[in-house]
Amino acid sequence: MADSIFGKLRGHVGEARGRAQEDKREREQAERKADSVILTKREVQGEWDAARTLYTTLGATGPKSMRAITANDLAQYRHNMRMAQSNFKGNGITARQVIDLASSKPLPPALGAKNPETDIDRARRQINMAIPVSAVNNEVRFITNAGPDSDVNRHHVLVRFNAFSEAANKMLAAKSKDRSTPKQTANWLRKQKLAFDCDCKRHRFFFRYISTIGNFNAGRDELGYPKIRNPNLKGVACKHVLRVMSEIDTSATVLSFLTKHMEKVHASANNTSKHQMRQAEADEAAQKQAARRRTIKTSEQRAQDRARAQERNALNVAAKKVKRVKVKPVNTRKIESALKSGKLAESDLEVLRRFGFSDKQIADKLGV
Ligand SMILES: [Zn+2]
Repeated sequence: MADSIFGKLRGHVGEARGRAQEDKREREQAERKADSVILTKREVQGEWDAARTLYTTLGATGPKSMRAITANDLAQYRHNMRMAQSNFKGNGITARQVIDLASSKPLPPALGAKNPETDIDRARRQINMAIPVSAVNNEVRFITNAGPDSDVNRHHVLVRFNAFSEAANKMLAAKSKDRSTPKQTANWLRKQKLAFDCDCKRHRFFFRYISTIGNFNAGRDELGYPKIRNPNLKGVACKHVLRVMSEIDTSATVLSFLTKHMEKVHASANNTSKHQMRQAEADEAAQKQAARRRTIKTSEQRAQDRARAQERNALNVAAKKVKRVKVKPVNTRKIESALKSGKLAESDLEVLRRFGFSDKQIADKLGV
């Protein structure tokens, strides 16, 4: 079963590159066409030929309702661009940030959609597998399964870890106490900023523009404004990327893969490495993932889990305390049973206590 979901590892880089080239070729063609409908960066900035009629869904109230773009729309686009950029400061984005933004500021489901789900809902329900299959220095390729309505059987997600060089240097610190092991380094690296790319149409038409202007795009840059698909620039990533981000953030498979990669980096003469999973290894990882619960947790959900765990612990501690009070120490019990059986008289006990004998000493004397 796993092989059929996962497919062959051999040739995966070629397949991914082929799809990227095809995408690039189609994009170039679309812009060259005389009746191109791409709204370019210059046009958004105001170099707008009013004779050109382009359409937008901005402010649409029904499915497929579109109208011609006006100069006001361009001002709105520029505003949306600034708003989106203010969400993404600096170079890259962390895996956890992608998940949190997909949850807190999702692209709303299309108007009149049969199945009104957000991308993170779909990632949770449909994408159960995301395996890191190969790495060359800072770039790691993941393969995910495709959703039920897809025309391909798997997707390629490319992730660029921006802190790779810094991570490599962490293993070289002069003092051994400052030096990180490959595993510590891998665990640090996966929490740092990254860039990503997915070969699916959702990423291409809805999100690539956002990742380009937000500085976390690992593929072809896209500066044509998504005036039809996502004019408000909502959301951040497709379901494949979201599953990959969840794996990067928490999974043992990713940690072990990155650890092996960092071991090779450390052993190399020049801080470089190529690492690839074996087919059997990848199949096993895919099987494991398919068998488990498909949760993707946001920071907020993690905080709630922690609070619940703390509450549970506190209750456990309280319950243990109550128990301890109920059960008397063993020597006290010995003395009480000696009193009961008549082996020890109350008056003798009083004398012993007056002389400062402890319960243990009294019990020892009794020989019980
Ligand atoms: Zn995708």
